[in-house]
Amino acid sequence: MSELQSSAISLRELSFFYRPNTEPSLKNISIEIPKNAITALMGPSGCGKSTLLRCLNRMYSLYPEQRATGEVIFEGRNILLPDVDLNALRARIGMVFQKPTPFPMSIFENIAFGIRLYEKLSRAQMRERVLEALTRVGLADEVRNKLEDLGTSLSGGQQQRLCVARTIALKPEIILLDEPTSALDPIATNTVEQLIRGLKGEFSIVIVTHNMQQAQRLSDYSALLYLGELVEFGATSTLFANAAHERTRRYLGGEFS
Ligand code: ADP
Repeated sequence: MSELQSSAISLRELSFFYRPNTEPSLKNISIEIPKNAITALMGPSGCGKSTLLRCLNRMYSLYPEQRATGEVIFEGRNILLPDVDLNALRARIGMVFQKPTPFPMSIFENIAFGIRLYEKLSRAQMRERVLEALTRVGLADEVRNKLEDLGTSLSGGQQQRLCVARTIALKPEIILLDEPTSALDPIATNTVEQLIRGLKGEFSIVIVTHNMQQAQRLSDYSALLYLGELVEFGATSTLFANAAHERTRRYLGGEFS
């Protein structure tokens, strides 16, 4: 795969330490994450999926004792370096969390708030941008007449779609999704999965899931992590049909979870 053409972000020998002088929670991970595709991070609980996701937008930098080594190359720069503008980075690499986390503001403001940090728009332009984002996540018809209601007044599935709308309104390159459906019922899960599938032409998506059926349904590429190491990375169809590694076959065969 040519990096310039098809990688959204490149991980090179990435290791991660929650505390100094301890065993790394990620060990020398190298992956080229493809552009405009859905990449799933799979593996048993505690294998490092969320840790890896949090390296990609420097979320760990909220905690001074945590440290990543190696390189994560995004738009030609190593984003692990200390001089990176973290707010700008997080606008380019957005994140949606496991539990829907609308801001304690109106539906409208949930989306407008982030846009306002980066762009100066007129009222009409802002309304258009907000409605465009809501339309993109299939929420516009449901909320058009109650944009001033609190974001938290929506159902769980709607809240999660609002969080996706808030992220895509900033026109990021990459969207990170940390088990985005694990707090949702099956119907809302299905709606959010369809939404994610519809976004991949425009965005590069990395999704953490502990649900291998979800990885199989949704993703184009998959990585299996185990005890902080990358076991295997490749096209999801290949991993599920013909994994190269015994451990991948055993995990996908349900032998451990
Ligand atoms: P997963 O997302 O695959 O369930 P995590 O990335 O949350 O796994 O965790 C990877 C490893 O890092 C685990 O061994 C976990 O115990 C450890 N870990 C996670 N969060 C912390 C933390 N805040 N402090 C110390 N260790 C942590």
